[in-house]
Amino acid sequence: MCKQKFNTALIHGGIDGDSRTGAVNVPIYQTSTFKQDGLGELREGIWEYSRTGNPTRAALEALIAQLEGGEAGFAFASGMAAITAVLSLFQSNVKILLSSNVYGGTFRVLDKVFSRFNLTYSLEDTTDLAALEREFTPNVKAIIIESPANPLLTITDIRAVAEIAHRHGALVIVDNTFMTPYLQQPLALGADIVVHSATKYLGGHSDLVAGLAVVKTRELADKLAFVQNSTGAVLGPQDAFLLIRGIKTLAVRLDRHVENAAYLADWLAGNLEVKKIYYPGLTSHIGYEINQQQAKNGGAMISFELAEGHNIRKFFKALQLIALAESLGGVESLVCHPATMTHAAIPRETREKIGITDNLIRLSVGIEDKADLLADLKQAIEESRI
Ligand code: PLP
Repeated sequence: MCKQKFNTALIHGGIDGDSRTGAVNVPIYQTSTFKQDGLGELREGIWEYSRTGNPTRAALEALIAQLEGGEAGFAFASGMAAITAVLSLFQSNVKILLSSNVYGGTFRVLDKVFSRFNLTYSLEDTTDLAALEREFTPNVKAIIIESPANPLLTITDIRAVAEIAHRHGALVIVDNTFMTPYLQQPLALGADIVVHSATKYLGGHSDLVAGLAVVKTRELADKLAFVQNSTGAVLGPQDAFLLIRGIKTLAVRLDRHVENAAYLADWLAGNLEVKKIYYPGLTSHIGYEINQQQAKNGGAMISFELAEGHNIRKFFKALQLIALAESLGGVESLVCHPATMTHAAIPRETREKIGITDNLIRLSVGIEDKADLLADLKQAIEESRI
């Protein structure tokens, strides 16, 4: 068959349906093990034990590999499990550069877990390319970036960072959670590994926790398959099925997410009660041009600060439709307070230096009617006046 276009691949990519029965959906293979026909005679040459490989998970892994344009995909029990597996590719006494603006859990696993095994890291401003290049000392073997980054929506030039990193023999790992392959494809921009918290837009319905990784080369695929099987934080077949189902509607959901986000961002940007707004789809955003070159649009995450004379506790309390909750990327709109929630693991001093202030509000714009979302934001801002 000819190469599928992206929207077709969302529905029919990877392993489509069930060749045995004709079921249009990949079945949930709820089994831990597989009967062998004789010693070493595995069915289809692969099915042995579900940590090593499970047909439902394999369908998801083939699907995400196709969508990201990679050699192979891997499904894990959470985004953090995917990131942990990728970090487990490296040796001790190696250094990883980490964008200073990343999800707090990515910082924490390096800071508190991998540092105990002498895998060191440093936080870098990945928007300052000249300064960044100077940090590529011989022991640096990888750089981890998010673009747009969580929670300040900072844009990093993925193509430029990949050129620098490859000149110094380092791998580029991009957390593509905020964009998904529908809006941005980091491997095509030069990255080597893409990771996802599939809990977010890929799942899309706030009903599962999952992680994915996609690698560009066969060599990396073999290494990550070994780590996945050895460390074992794999995604179960029920959640793999749910994630495949969520991915089928990714494009239609994201189109609406983005339409709503652009509408709310415009309104927030013109509101005198809003002191700062971060949304890469606004032409006033410092990374707008680069984002336009490497992504389809600005995505559906917005961060903002209210002006003096507002109390954010009152703002969160007053919201009626938009829920105060960890996470993002589901069909329902959510807000969070990064300083005490998603980014609490980052020391206050570091947080404030990079702009994650106590007043920062992060909004994950859902697919509800945009007029209702606007009305809720409007009344909560009014209620938050001191
Ligand atoms: N990467 C990003 C950008 C995230 O926002 C998150 C979670 O919020 C993670 C990774 C971790 O994913 P999970 O919560 O699925 O472990």
